[in-house]
Amino acid sequence: MSLKTKNNILRSFSFRLTLWYAVFFVSSLVIIFFISDKILMADLLHVVDRGLLAQATKIDDEFGYFNLDQIKTGIRESIEQEGKNRIFYRLLTSDLKVVATSDPLKWPCLNFPQMSQWADQSLENKVVFHTLSPPDRNYKIRIISRAIGKDKFIIQIGKTMKDEEDLVGLYRRVFGQAVGVLMILGIVLAWLEAQKAMVRIDGLMRNLRDVTNNIAHDLRTPLTRIRGLAETAEGKQDPESLGMIVEECDRLSATIKTMLEIAEADAGLKDVPKVSVDVVALVKRGCELFEPLAQDKNISLKFNATQESLMIKAEPMRLQRVVANLLDNAIKFTSSGSIDVQTKKEGAHAVITVTDTGIGIESGQQERIFEKFYRIESSRSLPGNGLGLSYVQSMVASLGGSVSVQSTLGQGSTFTIKLPL
Ligand code: ADP
Repeated sequence: MSLKTKNNILRSFSFRLTLWYAVFFVSSLVIIFFISDKILMADLLHVVDRGLLAQATKIDDEFGYFNLDQIKTGIRESIEQEGKNRIFYRLLTSDLKVVATSDPLKWPCLNFPQMSQWADQSLENKVVFHTLSPPDRNYKIRIISRAIGKDKFIIQIGKTMKDEEDLVGLYRRVFGQAVGVLMILGIVLAWLEAQKAMVRIDGLMRNLRDVTNNIAHDLRTPLTRIRGLAETAEGKQDPESLGMIVEECDRLSATIKTMLEIAEADAGLKDVPKVSVDVVALVKRGCELFEPLAQDKNISLKFNATQESLMIKAEPMRLQRVVANLLDNAIKFTSSGSIDVQTKKEGAHAVITVTDTGIGIESGQQERIFEKFYRIESSRSLPGNGLGLSYVQSMVASLGGSVSVQSTLGQGSTFTIKLPL
């Protein structure tokens, strides 16, 4: 893929991601706005209705104590207290004749035909509430119609919703401004998030490219060697070259087999039968096998165990290979000194440590050495395919364990494997 195509894809992807984040964020805000607006309106209406009902009930109660004239005066006074511009009333008999009313010139809605309809309804239902939007006013009016005085009368009280609508207006303005600010913030955050995701994707793509490059390199080298050997052997019976060809082919297929095993373990595809394995015995045996190799390089290989045995459930062949990979690396990357191998129990884990006094690993490389085919530049001249530690990591992870490294450049490394008992 050319760099330009890749950049274009990333840019359009990043744009789309930003857009998605922003759309999600803004629509969430809008939904929250509408829901809270509806809740606020419903709550305010409920408060107004409660007030109107309390007033109507009070008038109903008064019918037990006062005569009609006294009640009319009482209503007028209480209305005046609330403010004539905010509240109106109408008292009707059960056959809908108006007995008392606020000024109809000030409240033309008092003569609207629906007012009488609602009064009629209240005879059936006791209390009804309605909202009116009169053309002569900017505010809605909430009206209660209630049968009172043992259903002989009907009181209608209307109250403008000015205060409530002003409050909602204020809420909408403040929320609107907040949404505006949050929207800008949201888009900036969305963009930053998208950038973060891009860095991740870019990293993954780079890793993929590195692995592909490494595979290409690691497969090409033996293939070139095989071809060279085949050319030499061509036409003459050269058993040495033919033998080397077989060896190279074996190495290549071993590499491919390891790759497949790692892929299988990572994907959890193959459930390899696990049996009880004694980690102490297995590591001890591994050390014995590698002892001659260490001796050849004048390195002392020491093994010690804090426990007689440590039993875990594992696949013995794979675990042997895990230990062998660590021992092989320790010997390979140490030119003099010693290698200490230890097994111990730590809580519910069996722990294996392999410590060498070799070349060590720079801190920046310590994460990367577990990647497939990754080999530190300085060690490329030594035999290997860069799959050893990937194998270790995948197999240990498939057993529910972990592997880590501590190392100082030029002083040595310690690899630690923890496996659940
Ligand atoms: P290989 O050993 O085949 O190169 P590995 O996956 O086992 O591949 O290791 C990857 C790289 O990590 C090695 O190439 C080497 O650079 C580094 N490495 C591994 N073990 C050690 C060690 N004990 N000391 C120093 N470097 C190491």
